[in-house]
Amino acid sequence: MKEWQGNIIGAIVITIIGIGLILWANMIELPTRYRTFLGIPYAVNPEFVIVSYQVVTLLFFGVLLLGFGLGILANTYSIYRLEKKLGRPPQPMTRFCPQCGSAVTEGARFCYKCGKQLET
Ligand SMILES: [Zn+2]
Repeated sequence: MKEWQGNIIGAIVITIIGIGLILWANMIELPTRYRTFLGIPYAVNPEFVIVSYQVVTLLFFGVLLLGFGLGILANTYSIYRLEKKLGRPPQPMTRFCPQCGSAVTEGARFCYKCGKQLET
């Protein structure tokens, strides 16, 4: 198993849990007489404050996990691209530039060293 394959599973799980917590926070029913702003309730009432803390805590951890998950996904994509780049087999240096004698890869159109156009 390659590096990015292991990471992507963990990243997706963390992202899903984060979204789940945010959805859960939005499903908690608040007494209708309390007002909310952007889904976060505000009012001062002992009974209400307990509910409010639940919602805020869930939102906090939801956003935190979502951020972690998306961050790891972004990193994983970089690792994936890097591995793909490094995993490419090197082109054989089978030809030589007629002008300067440098080794050039098969199919190259120009010499890497002197820039002379090569016959293909
Ligand atoms: Zn050359």
